[in-house]
Amino acid sequence: MTTRVWPRREFLWRLSQSALGSLILAQACDQVIPGQSKSTSVLVLGAGLSGLYTALLLEAKGLSVTVLEARDRVGGRIYTLTGIPGKPDVGGQIFTEKYHRLLNLANSLQVAVEPAKVSERKILLNIRGQAVLPQNWATSTANRLTKNEHSIIPSHLLAHYLRSYNILENATAWIKPNHFSLDIPLDKYLKTRGASTEALRLISCDSGSRTNSLKTTSTLWALRNDLRSKFPSKRLAHVRGGNSYLPEKMAAFLLSPVQTHKVVQAIYSNDVGVEVRCSDGSKYQADYAVVTLPFSVLRRVNITPPLQGLQAEAVQELPYTAVTQICLKIRAPFWENDGYPPKMWTDSLLESVLPIRDATGRIQSLVCWATGTRAKKLDALNLEAVKKLVISELSRVRPATTGNVEIERVVSWGNDPFSRGAYSYFAPGQIRRFQHQMAKPWQRIHFAGEHTAIATPGMESALESAERVTQEILERISDGSGLKNHLVY
Ligand SMILES: Cc1cc2nc3c(=O)[nH]c(=O)nc-3n(C[C@H](O)[C@H](O)[C@H](O)COP(=O)(O)OP(=O)(O)OC[C@H]3O[C@@H](n4cnc5c(N)ncnc54)[C@H](O)[C@@H]3O)c2cc1C
Repeated sequence: MTTRVWPRREFLWRLSQSALGSLILAQACDQVIPGQSKSTSVLVLGAGLSGLYTALLLEAKGLSVTVLEARDRVGGRIYTLTGIPGKPDVGGQIFTEKYHRLLNLANSLQVAVEPAKVSERKILLNIRGQAVLPQNWATSTANRLTKNEHSIIPSHLLAHYLRSYNILENATAWIKPNHFSLDIPLDKYLKTRGASTEALRLISCDSGSRTNSLKTTSTLWALRNDLRSKFPSKRLAHVRGGNSYLPEKMAAFLLSPVQTHKVVQAIYSNDVGVEVRCSDGSKYQADYAVVTLPFSVLRRVNITPPLQGLQAEAVQELPYTAVTQICLKIRAPFWENDGYPPKMWTDSLLESVLPIRDATGRIQSLVCWATGTRAKKLDALNLEAVKKLVISELSRVRPATTGNVEIERVVSWGNDPFSRGAYSYFAPGQIRRFQHQMAKPWQRIHFAGEHTAIATPGMESALESAERVTQEILERISDGSGLKNHLVY
C-alpha cells in the first residue's frame, strides 16, 4: 500500500500544477451531500480515456468512485496489439503537441511519449486497378478527374474543396447557429463547390473523411475537421510501447480498481440516486452516474425514466463510422520486388495499407484500413471469408504481395459490441438538432465521452469531456460553503 500512496500523491500534485488540471482540481466542492454523512458516490460507466480521467478527477476531490467496464481490459477505443510485431495501435493512434490534456496526463503519470514514426512520405496510389506514383498522377490514364482537379492527389481532394472556403473562425464555431446553414449533406456541398463525380468517388474512398459516406455527413462537421488539419501540427507523437499504456497507468492510479466484465444493461435514476444493473446480475448504487458509453452502445441500454426529446433521438441516431483493420504479417519484403513504396492509397476495398515500423524504422507488419461502406462489406462476412477476400484483393492491387503476406488479426470496430463504430460524427441537420442536447444531465445521470466534446478531436476530446462532466458534478454537489479546495492524497 505504501508503495502506491507516494506515486499517487506525486501524480495529483503534478496534475494540479498544470493550467487545466488546476482549473478542475481547484473547483469548490463539498464531498458530502447535505444531510448525509458519507462522501458523494459516483458510478462511472466505461473505462476508456473519458471514464478513467473522470474517475481520477472525482477521486482527487474525495468522491467515492466505482468504474464499471464491459471488457476484460481498460482503454476502450485505445488498443495496442502488443502481440503483433511493431505493436500497432488499432484504436487511437497519433496525438500532437495540441493535445494539452493528454500530454499533461502522460507527464503526470510518467508515461513516456515519443515522436511517431511518420517517415512514410512515399506512397503508391492504386486507382482503377493501376499502380501510379504521385508524381505521375496528373498524367496517368487512371486519372479521370476534371482539368481543374487533375493535379490533386486523391487524398488531398477533400481538403482542397473544404479549405478554399472554410468560414469557421475557430474550433468551437461549428456549434454556433450562424453556421447552421452549412449543416447540410457534404456530397451536395462539394458539388456546389465544383467537385466532379470522379472527385466525389475518390473522396468517398478516403478514410481521411472519417465518416461512413459523404451523403450522411454534415458539411459543418467536415469543416470542423478541416479547420483542425488546416494548421498542421509540428509534432506527431504516441506513447512509447503503445498508447494502451496510458489508460492502464491511469487505471492503476485509481483508489478503487476498475470492475471489468461488467456489461451495463440498465440504469435507473430517481431523486436520491442511481442504480446500475449489469448482465451478470450485479447491481451498483450511487448518488450519481457518469455514462461514457458511445451512443451506438448506449442505445441498447435501458434507461429509466427514459431520456426525452432530442437527447433521446440523438442517442438513437448519432452515426458512428465503421472501421475495420486487417493486420498483416510480412513473410518477405514484397516492396523490394516491385520497387514501389510499401505504403498504399487505393480506391479498392482496402483503402489504405500502412507499414508499422519499430524504433529503428524497420517495417514489422502492415495494417490495412477499410472505412464506411467498405468496412461494412467486410463486417458482414465471417472471418475466413474476410481473410480470403483481403488476400485476393491485395494480390489484385499489389501482385507482389502474393504469397508474401498473411493475415494475423482482423479488428472490426463496427462489429465490436462495446463500441459499434470507431468514432461518432454528425449527419446533416444533426448538429443543429442534437449537439446542444447530447450531454445534458438527465436526472442523476451525466454524460461524457468523445461524442460530447466540442473544442478538441479524438483522444483529447475524451479528456475534454471528462473535465466538463467533472465540473458539472462538482458544481451540483457543492453547497457553496465549507469549501474543500484541497486534493485528497
Ligand atoms: C480506429 C481508430 C483510430 C483512431 N485514431 C485516433 C487518432 O489517431 N488520434 C486520436 O486522437 N484519436 C483517435 N481515435 C479516437 C480515440 O481513440 C477516441 O476518441 C477515444 O479513445 C474515445 O474515448 P472515450 O472514453 O470517449 O470512449 P471509449 O474509449 O469507447 O470508452 C467507452 C468505454 O465504455 C465501455 N463500454 C461500452 N459498452 C459498455 C457497457 N455496456 N457496459 C460497460 N462498459 C461499456 C467500452 O468498453 C469502453 O472502454 C481513433 C479511434 C479509432 C477506433
